Amino acid sequence: MRWANLALVLGEIAAGPCSRAAVAASTGLTRAAVSSLVEELLAAGLLTEAGRSAPNGRVGRPGSELRLSQDGPAGLGGEIGVEHLAACVVDLRGEVRSWHRREVGNRGRSPAAVLADLAELLRLAAEEAGLHPAGLALAVPGLVRSAEGMIEGAANLGWAEVPVATELRLALRAAGAPELAALPVEVGNEANLGGLAEFWLAGRPDDFCHLSAEAGIGSAIVIGGQLLRGARGFAGELGHLTVWPDGPRCACGARGCLEQYAGETAVLRAAGLTGVGGDWVALLAERAAGGDREVLAALAGAGTALGIAAAGAVNLLDPQAVVLGGGYAELGEWLLPTMRAELAARVTARPWDDSWLSVSPLGRRGPLLGAAVGVVRRIIADPGAYAGG
Ligand SMILES: [Zn+2]
Repeated sequence: MRWANLALVLGEIAAGPCSRAAVAASTGLTRAAVSSLVEELLAAGLLTEAGRSAPNGRVGRPGSELRLSQDGPAGLGGEIGVEHLAACVVDLRGEVRSWHRREVGNRGRSPAAVLADLAELLRLAAEEAGLHPAGLALAVPGLVRSAEGMIEGAANLGWAEVPVATELRLALRAAGAPELAALPVEVGNEANLGGLAEFWLAGRPDDFCHLSAEAGIGSAIVIGGQLLRGARGFAGELGHLTVWPDGPRCACGARGCLEQYAGETAVLRAAGLTGVGGDWVALLAERAAGGDREVLAALAGAGTALGIAAAGAVNLLDPQAVVLGGGYAELGEWLLPTMRAELAARVTARPWDDSWLSVSPLGRRGPLLGAAVGVVRRIIADPGAYAGG
């Protein structure tokens, strides 16, 4: 009961700074109970008294304004991309306190080598933020078994059955960061974490689909405010939805998957840019902005395929919004027109409204933000576990 009330009080203050009296009024708890719970949260470093609205200005008066502490426990996030690594720290309010990114081609590298580099970035990010991370969460481009800290398969990295949480702890110890190696480690799929970041930070409705270009094509489906995980945690593989049954062979073995029309390799091929290295999203955006006809046609084609797949998802799930995230967010201007046309033509249950389709403000920062913010959200949801009861 006490743990539940700690969460109730902290949740209220997390929604916006407020006084003890206001917390009592909105939770229905007595003022005395709220005061005692607030003392506990203050002692655990989760809250601060930001302002003093009581006339006499004394600490601990019912009118003092309470806020989440910016010096309290933090969330440490790490990201393994096919072409980059990144690490960040967010404080309890979800504000980014440090962010480090390194461009590095990870395709075909061993997990140990990649995790050694990532451990170094995590150490730097934690050092720069100067906070105490309460947990570490990792965004990876592949199928994961979260509870076991395992990557079941990451085709774009060439990895299978990697105990990534265990190996990351070893790498953190080797990098001289034993305090980080002792943290609980969560492993999540990058597309799912990108979708959750969109839900938590961009004010998305309780039902939406998030489509993102990352290593392949990722998607996250949020239904009733919950990420749709599926029976084994692999839901949302929209990149392998069939767009054309007789289309090109996909890496997954099937033909005509969305990825064969709107994935990185396919779009670059259609744009006549096969084999270019580096930041393909930035390259396409630059060429498209310059009016390159081949690039514009390639992006229009990708938008058509995305619209066909998204229409299937919309007809199936009836979401309130469809969001283009990850790398697609930077290409939205050129993808949206054809995507909208397909949605308008194919969504049946209700007339399609263009305002339902939008571009993520988080873009390629989404997955790492989702990882780090997830850590602090778990503390806010269950402060008793953090404070030790
Ligand atoms: Zn496929």
